[in-house]
Amino acid sequence: MAISSTPFVGAFAWALLDAETQARIGALALELAAGQFIEDIAVMHDPARRAAAKASAKASDALLLEFLLLDERSALAVEDEEGAWLVPSAAGPLCQVCGGQARRRAEMICSDCMEPDYEDLLILMGGAQP
Ligand SMILES: [Zn+2]
Repeated sequence: MAISSTPFVGAFAWALLDAETQARIGALALELAAGQFIEDIAVMHDPARRAAAKASAKASDALLLEFLLLDERSALAVEDEEGAWLVPSAAGPLCQVCGGQARRRAEMICSDCMEPDYEDLLILMGGAQP
């Protein structure tokens, strides 16, 4: 399936959720972040590390389950009108050909997928001069 030129913007989807759903997801996200924070800092202390990892994993599972149970799935629409994926904006500009990192959002293509500029190649090879 193609990648949409429009990213999925979590902030917009968040604004479409009702306050109760935002409160549940927000609380789980904070628990996930707190667990991850402790885990990152307490790597040298095994008991805290294990407990934080367990809490983080449980919060992560609960957060994903919360998204799966959303009644208002349109708030998490991840396809555009043509059926292309609205990849989360956190991924940055994506190449429409291979899904890699695009050079700039306006170009929507990566260096690997760009057509070679034959004039530049000729100059590099000592051929034609501009
Ligand atoms: Zn590419």
